[in-house]
Amino acid sequence: MDNKAFYKEAEFLLGAAQLSQLPADHGFEVAFAGRSNAGKSSVLNVLCQQKSLARTSKTPGRTQQINVFNLDEQRRLVDLPGYGYAKVSEKVKKEWQDTLDSYLQQRECLKGVILIMDIRHPLKAFDMMMVEWAYRSGLPTHVLLNKSDKLKRGPGKNTLFAVLAELKPYADLVSVQLFSALKRTGSEDVYDVLDKWFDLQE
Ligand code: GDP
Repeated sequence: MDNKAFYKEAEFLLGAAQLSQLPADHGFEVAFAGRSNAGKSSVLNVLCQQKSLARTSKTPGRTQQINVFNLDEQRRLVDLPGYGYAKVSEKVKKEWQDTLDSYLQQRECLKGVILIMDIRHPLKAFDMMMVEWAYRSGLPTHVLLNKSDKLKRGPGKNTLFAVLAELKPYADLVSVQLFSALKRTGSEDVYDVLDKWFDLQE
C-alpha cells in the first residue's frame, strides 16, 4: 500500500506551551522526539514531503512548545521539544521533563513515539530518558538513526546492531532503523510504522 500521499496532508495546527492547550484527547497521535540538531525537523519535512513544515518549530519562542500538525480530523503528528543546547536553566529543564513525562503517561490518543538520533551520537541521556518513559507508559518507540549518510554501510550497520543490543531490555516495544533525511532513505519503513499506529493498514 502506498500511503505516502496521506502524510503530505500535514498542516500546522497549534503550538502548545502546556498540555492543557493540546487538542482534545481523541483520535490518534504519533510524537516525534529528539535532541536538538538530531534532524527532527528535516525528518518531519521529508516524511510530510514539505520543504518547511517543521520550520514552525524553529520559530523563536516556539522551540519549547509542543507543535501539533493535523493529518486528518482523527490523526496528528506531534513535534515534542528537544533540548540539547543547554541554554535553558535547570528549573525550566525540569519543568519540561515533567511536561513530557506527563504527556507520555497521560495522553490516551498517543500511539507511539518516533525518536530521532544522530547516528554518530546515539543513546544520549535524553534519548534513554525518552525510551524509558515511553516504555513505562507501555508506548512503542521507533528509533531513527538519522544522518546515516555520514557513515559507510559497514559502520552504519554496526551502529544499528550496537543500538539494538543496548535497547534489548526494551525490545518488546522498541524498534530501530537507519534513516537519512538528506538522502531521503528509510522513509518506507517509517510509513509502515506510522500506518500501523494510525490504524491505516489495509
Ligand atoms: P533538529 O534540531 O533536530 O530539528 O535538526 P534539523 O532538522 O534542523 O537538522 C540539524 C542539522 O542537521 C541541519 O544542518 C540539517 O541539514 C542536518 N541534517 C538533518 N538530517 C540530516 C541527514 O540525514 N544527513 C545529514 N548529513 N545532515 C542532516
